[in-house]
Amino acid sequence: MKIGCHLSASGGYLAMAQTAVSIGANVFQFFTRNPRGGAAKPIDKGDVAAFLEFAEANGIGPILAHAPYTLNAAGAETRVREFAESVMADDLERLEHTPGAMYNFHPGSHVGQGAEAGIGLISSMLSRILSKKPFRTTVLLETMSGKGSEVGRNFEEIRAIIDATDAPLGVCLDTCHVWDGGYDIVNDLGGVLAEFDRIVGLGRLKAIHLNDSMNVLGAHKDRHEKIGKGKIGLDALMRVVNHPKLKDLPFYLETPCDLQGYRDEIALIKKMSDSN
Ligand SMILES: [Zn+2]
Ligand SMILES: [Zn+2]
Repeated sequence: MKIGCHLSASGGYLAMAQTAVSIGANVFQFFTRNPRGGAAKPIDKGDVAAFLEFAEANGIGPILAHAPYTLNAAGAETRVREFAESVMADDLERLEHTPGAMYNFHPGSHVGQGAEAGIGLISSMLSRILSKKPFRTTVLLETMSGKGSEVGRNFEEIRAIIDATDAPLGVCLDTCHVWDGGYDIVNDLGGVLAEFDRIVGLGRLKAIHLNDSMNVLGAHKDRHEKIGKGKIGLDALMRVVNHPKLKDLPFYLETPCDLQGYRDEIALIKKMSDSN
């Protein structure tokens, strides 16, 4: 199975891949830059070359780049939207160095403009960026919990962004977010996946953020919890990992863990996985 976690990018690509191997992971996620935004470090070509060789030799990937949280394509102010567009375009340009990577982002918050306006702003930004050149990186919309004015709070909003965007998009399903968004993956995983398939299409699902949740179904809170310590629970999360329609996808943990904690979670999930 493909399982890993979010890692610090401060040491570069090779260091992340080595850390991944050291905790039993074969995929990982990282922020493309400081999660609050700011400039990205210049690409270190030597590091990238060493990483690609190491990843090939150790079966690492796909890696998942996560856009900074401050990126809001649906912002009300031009300045906010221009920042989002320049950051995403720059991130995708940089990811050309690591073919096969995927790029995940939070669709945005409409900040009172309404979901429909937000969807329009997000998809027009994506269309502009992705029509510039055929980027090698697949862009993924993350399913959101519906905290505040988040867009992507349900499968219909994800579908609406896909439909309005003039380029192919994938989806990353976050188990904490969909649970907090009101999708009962504990008691009816099959029903939730059937709904996802009907509205979005399982073919678009490219990655899973595997997280427990501190909150109850439909809380719209987005507080991740350690695997098995939250309201979703270990059994339900293992049904996600082992589901025939999901088991071949890469799983990325974003739980509040240090490296030892991630090592333990990965070992537990591998032990309880049907594919091991
Ligand atoms: Zn995220
Ligand atoms: Zn997530």
